[in-house]
Amino acid sequence: MSKVLGIIGGGQLGMMLTEAAKKMPEHISDVIVLDPTENCPATKVGAKQIIADFKDKNAIVELSLQSDIVTYEIESGNSEVLESLNGTVVINPSPSTLRIIQDKYLQKKFLRENQIPVADFVSVESIADLKEKIKLFGCPSMLKARRDAYDGHGNFRVENDDQVLQAYEQFRGRWLMLEKIVNFQMEVSVIAARNTKGQIATYPIVENIHEENILKMTIAPARVNRKVSEEAQRIAKKTMEALHGAGVFGIEMFVTQDDKVLINEIAPRVHNSGHHTLQSSATSQFEQHLRAILGLELGKTDLLHYTIMCNILGPSVFYGTYVPIELQQKEGLYLKMYQKDEAKPQRKMGHFNLVDINDTKDIVRLIREAEEIKKSIIFRKPT
Ligand code: ATP
Ligand code: MG
Repeated sequence: MSKVLGIIGGGQLGMMLTEAAKKMPEHISDVIVLDPTENCPATKVGAKQIIADFKDKNAIVELSLQSDIVTYEIESGNSEVLESLNGTVVINPSPSTLRIIQDKYLQKKFLRENQIPVADFVSVESIADLKEKIKLFGCPSMLKARRDAYDGHGNFRVENDDQVLQAYEQFRGRWLMLEKIVNFQMEVSVIAARNTKGQIATYPIVENIHEENILKMTIAPARVNRKVSEEAQRIAKKTMEALHGAGVFGIEMFVTQDDKVLINEIAPRVHNSGHHTLQSSATSQFEQHLRAILGLELGKTDLLHYTIMCNILGPSVFYGTYVPIELQQKEGLYLKMYQKDEAKPQRKMGHFNLVDINDTKDIVRLIREAEEIKKSIIFRKPT
């Protein structure tokens, strides 16, 4: 029987999940999103919306009453409320998985306990504690807010002893942890899926390039040797087995200078670095997530063609409405705008995928082409 899907969050990830759901009417009859922004992106592609804060208890209960199955596109949802609902509605990934992942300290502890490699870390309970523990790793060290962090906003790189107090004050009132700096050669990720029956599938490793802590470009596949790629796959699978959650997970990793692979963090949801799968794979990460939470057999994850994904961010000092973005027509070039009414600096407005349909496998040329395409994107005020 076809089900009503509830999604906490109706931004671009909720939008692309909704689009995938609309292609599976035999399994999903309707999509409802819970999001505080009126006319959020998911509504533009046919989702119904409950307008409320992601953590609003009554709204989450309402969503669960209207849905047969609940999932989320953000990790900052209210896991306590979700946990109390478990049993009345199917929630995937499970609230207990979410509870572990949404606290970076509990997440890292969980990974370490499962022999999955991560950077050294400790919890921080007070300023005195921080002053003491920073001696463990020395400077620089990374002070991190344990919860509700995104785009690097929860991180403070403590460069010297004089910055310790400033770093602590910046996160006043929040739970903290301290992490050893990883001198990585590359940031990579693996999008992994586990369905409710325990079947696991992983996409090939991709390379992520950040600018000001925001993902700028994903290169599929990552330019790493076979050993690194296999190790990343092994770690991703082991993580999925340990976590027991159903759904798609974005597993962010560091490759160290000596080719070791460490997990940086896990997102319990579809992930920006998986957007290339919309064109590069037989199964997009969005369809895969739905297949996983519905208990369907997982789709194929092979990379059919090399692909570059570029995020389109709101330009600096641009606020408000904008003339719709168009790109040159080009074989293998796919633009996806998120239909957000207003742009603002660094806001994720859309992305494009540049697919190597002729299988030249010339990554350097593809990157150069993607950079050129990106330069041609200009946000203009409507006249
Ligand atoms: P996101 O950018 O995924 O929303 P976030 O705000 O939760 O994430 P992290 O992913 O923990 O933050 O860190 C953001 C970036 O900071 C990483 O992509 C990496 O470049 C850098 N970083 C984080 N932890 C470390 C570390 N221990 N050593 C070196 N660099 C780090
Ligand atoms: Mg991150």
